[in-house]
Amino acid sequence: MSHTTEPVIPAEIQSATAEAVLSWAVEIFGPRIALVTSFAAEGVVLVDMLARAGLPARIVTLDTGRLSAESYSVIEAIRERYGVAIEVLFPNADAVEAMVREHGVNLFYRSVELRRRCCAVRKVEPLERVLVGLDGWITGLRRSQSATRHAVAKVEFDADHRGIIKVNPLADWSDDMLWSYIHAHRVPYNALHDRGYPSIGCAPCTRAVAPGEEGRAGRWWWEGNSSAKECGLHVRTPCS
Ligand code: SF4
Repeated sequence: MSHTTEPVIPAEIQSATAEAVLSWAVEIFGPRIALVTSFAAEGVVLVDMLARAGLPARIVTLDTGRLSAESYSVIEAIRERYGVAIEVLFPNADAVEAMVREHGVNLFYRSVELRRRCCAVRKVEPLERVLVGLDGWITGLRRSQSATRHAVAKVEFDADHRGIIKVNPLADWSDDMLWSYIHAHRVPYNALHDRGYPSIGCAPCTRAVAPGEEGRAGRWWWEGNSSAKECGLHVRTPCS
């Protein structure tokens, strides 16, 4: 971090509203913090909140090269609706070419190790490239999304990324709160959400879920182990 002293996380921020958490974060860190989002439901809500509050946070997204057409459509819809600049990060082309040459384009179906390698090349490395220049990042993590996220705080130190600040304004939001906000403010959202996709990732690695299934059950569904349903962006262990 560029700060000479570690920022203090006020105790009251952990029970503050999402809007108050966002304001605090952008005021403290300015251009040294960015919203990193795939523009799933949580991400579009955060973009809307930033716009309503006039908070000039950077907005960053990862284009893995394997996104669905619907994901590209929502990126464009958000850009047009809010007039914001979206920083689109791409994986290292040489690393993708070497991986695909050795293991094929759909390596992720062959083993957990190869799936993690693909996530590392297409997601984790580009994320780390942008986080190196930041003192904090804003995410759409919610405790109710999965068992791996039940302890998410609204503001926390990110031990996996040099101890920078990780801000999760929607940590305590339910699905109902999320969708009430989206409909009340007519926020553009990914069309896949209406087709049974609560969680949206790369096209070949995400399917719709059945009623009653956990939200992230459709991610890497062939692996079958819900404890591993992370790509390494937020939980380092599964990709290590
Ligand atoms: Fe590769 Fe699938 Fe991970 Fe996307 S989600 S980076 S396609 S393994």
